[in-house]
Amino acid sequence: MSTTSTASTDPTSATGDKQVEQVVIIGSGPAGHTAAIYAARANLHPLMFEGFMAGGVAAGGQLTTTTEVENFPGFPQGIQGPELMDRMREQSTHHGTRIISETIESVDLSQRPFHIRPEGSESGIYAQTLIIATGATARRMSVPGEERLWNRGISACAVCDGALPLFRQQVLVVVGGGDTAAEEANHLTKFGSKVIVVHRRGELRASKVMQQRLLANPKVEMLWHHTLEEALGEGSLESVRVRDVRTGADKIVPARGLFYAIGHVPNTAFLKGQLTVDETGYVITKPGTTQTSVPGVFAAGDVQDKRWRQAITAAGTGCMAALEAEAFLQGH
Ligand code: FAD
Ligand code: NDP
Repeated sequence: MSTTSTASTDPTSATGDKQVEQVVIIGSGPAGHTAAIYAARANLHPLMFEGFMAGGVAAGGQLTTTTEVENFPGFPQGIQGPELMDRMREQSTHHGTRIISETIESVDLSQRPFHIRPEGSESGIYAQTLIIATGATARRMSVPGEERLWNRGISACAVCDGALPLFRQQVLVVVGGGDTAAEEANHLTKFGSKVIVVHRRGELRASKVMQQRLLANPKVEMLWHHTLEEALGEGSLESVRVRDVRTGADKIVPARGLFYAIGHVPNTAFLKGQLTVDETGYVITKPGTTQTSVPGVFAAGDVQDKRWRQAITAAGTGCMAALEAEAFLQGH
């Protein structure tokens, strides 16, 4: 395992023949990096597993898939998502966080120190405290034609794929009614001839400012009360079949691009029953804390937050998790 670090001291303790970390952080979005910065500054020498395309996202998390971030304090003119995450990573390593570019496959939380096993590793490592900050992944719809046409006109990341030549001056469809749908539809108007937003209800979930921008965009057309039923095309996407949920009538809409923006699934599969999660897989934390059902294991960011899901709230809970891990270590 290769690590990135500026730390010079040995951060581990030997228990029997195994090396035990004080704090291990899984995940590298705003939650993971804020936890790392706080834990490193508390001399806890954190070790972070940043993931390798874990949950389909690059290290750095969801903000690496977006362009301008306008609501993270400290950047009055906004900042590009990938640059913000590069800066957070630099700040983590500057304070001594060691970072491993691997994805965690499983954990054993039945006793402390906890056992943490990366993909392809037999042995793994041990930790006195664990911070889970693995975020969430974009949801797919599994309509007929989706698998065949995935990456041939269908994508879950308009920011990553929207500028591709196959979408230039074409009709593009976005499914969803949240902030992601609004942001991605607006972004796609830079490339497509028209962007049709297919939404299953008659009102948007997106924040007011995002709604205003979307609805004021002359290249955006709203298809209210419609669901996506099928993706059609031979070598690449040619059209979509949509259904009016009020009448049940289907129609074919010609389109060369189809972008999903229907929310996210928390990246908790690797926990496999080791912790209490809710019915949709989000880690349950004690209200007002980042404490999970296992003492010494903390969860921060979108992996435990269905409601706010913002970079700043992820960072805030990352800070809480590190401070709680520090207090836990002092008490044990
Ligand atoms: P994430 O950012 O999801 O990061 C989690 C990381 O953990 C990922 O890198 C993942 O690969 C890694 N990981 C997952 N599983 C494992 C594993 N098993 N082992 C190791 N690593 C693992 N919020 C704003 O405040 N402002 C915005 O402008 C904004 N724009 C957005 C635009 C888009 C397109 C999207 C999708 C979201 C946007 N958000 C925005 C929301 C914001 O990105 C998230 O709230 C925030 O990134 C959550 O941070 P996080 O640290 O919890 O998780
Ligand atoms: P949301 O969960 O907020 O919205 C998902 C949307 O997809 C909803 O409109 C939902 O419909 C629709 N949907 C869900 N499942 C289906 C389905 N099976 N078929 C059809 N439609 C479906 O997710 P987002 O990704 O938009 O946002 C996640 C978080 O990230 C939010 O907190 C958001 O504020 C934040 N974010 C912030 C941004 C910013 O501040 N600039 C930009 C992007 C995201 P319905 O409304 O009917 O439930």
